[in-house]
Amino acid sequence: MTAKILAGKEVCDAIFAALAPLVKQLDPKLTVIQVGNDPASDSYVRQKLKSCDAVGMRHEHVHLKDDVSKEELFSVIEKLNGDPDVSGFILQLPLPSRLTPHIPLFIRAIDPKKDADGFTAYNIGKTMISREFEHLPPATPSGIISLLEHYGFGNVEGKEVVIVNHSNVVGKPLAAMLLNRNATVTVCHAYTKDLAAHTRRADMLVSAVGKPKLITKNMVKPGAVVIDVGITRTAQGLAGDVDFDSVKEIAGAITPVPGGVGPLTVASLIRNTVKAKQRQVET
Ligand code: NAP
Repeated sequence: MTAKILAGKEVCDAIFAALAPLVKQLDPKLTVIQVGNDPASDSYVRQKLKSCDAVGMRHEHVHLKDDVSKEELFSVIEKLNGDPDVSGFILQLPLPSRLTPHIPLFIRAIDPKKDADGFTAYNIGKTMISREFEHLPPATPSGIISLLEHYGFGNVEGKEVVIVNHSNVVGKPLAAMLLNRNATVTVCHAYTKDLAAHTRRADMLVSAVGKPKLITKNMVKPGAVVIDVGITRTAQGLAGDVDFDSVKEIAGAITPVPGGVGPLTVASLIRNTVKAKQRQVET
């Protein structure tokens, strides 16, 4: 068996086509705050702004120097909170190590109504309640759900889903969104004993660890849907967590890295900005 390749670009194109008329009507704007020049962040920010252009959305890049103070960063966040022209904004992570301990406080300072990444406790909390309250859900889990829906795997009711990651931006909110859709969800992490025993049971396996070739063929149930969220920069280019060449022989469907979940995180960010503007106009 050779797995169906789940291409993120195809799903993004469909999401952008659906959003384009709303963007035209609502004229939202996304602002990206970046601190310093982390090379991976430079590339992610470029992709985000390019995708705004693709859908015709206004954008702004607030690029702060590496030595910006904690107080200055808080005041930039406050200014964007109060600017009626800004529909949504994000703080590109990671931050310089000096500022890393303050990340929860920076996230807390973001007005949840403008939280395009869906990282605030308010928006994560709403995601926990039910599908109807997933107004600004965290971008990566929301992108994964869109990918599954696009390729006909959106009905996860009764499916065994195993997620390898329990971070606040991927594993925990994705587990909640899958529970909202009645999947049976197992969440694994670095302390999980016998990871393979869990992954082998999965009808749907999502890995977001950042360890190339962590998921090998013998860890995958034949016919499973395998979603590779991991991104590691190697000398050969970007690598996912899944040993793609061998796993695609046994899986039913699989995402490549690059070109799988990555573009969908960006598409969700843009969709959240449009939804944020929609809700700001309505209230
Ligand atoms: P993170 O907070 O470091 O999460 C990594 C997770 O993997 C943690 O839950 C960790 O568990 C678990 N883990 C580590 N080693 C493991 C092992 N040997 N077996 C099982 N679980 C293990 O990072 P993150 O921000 O969630 O990102 C995770 C990966 O996804 C990274 O490669 C990142 O680049 C990628 N990512 C991609 C996208 C995208 O758009 N494609 C978006 C977000 C993240 P502990 O917490 O117990 O250590």
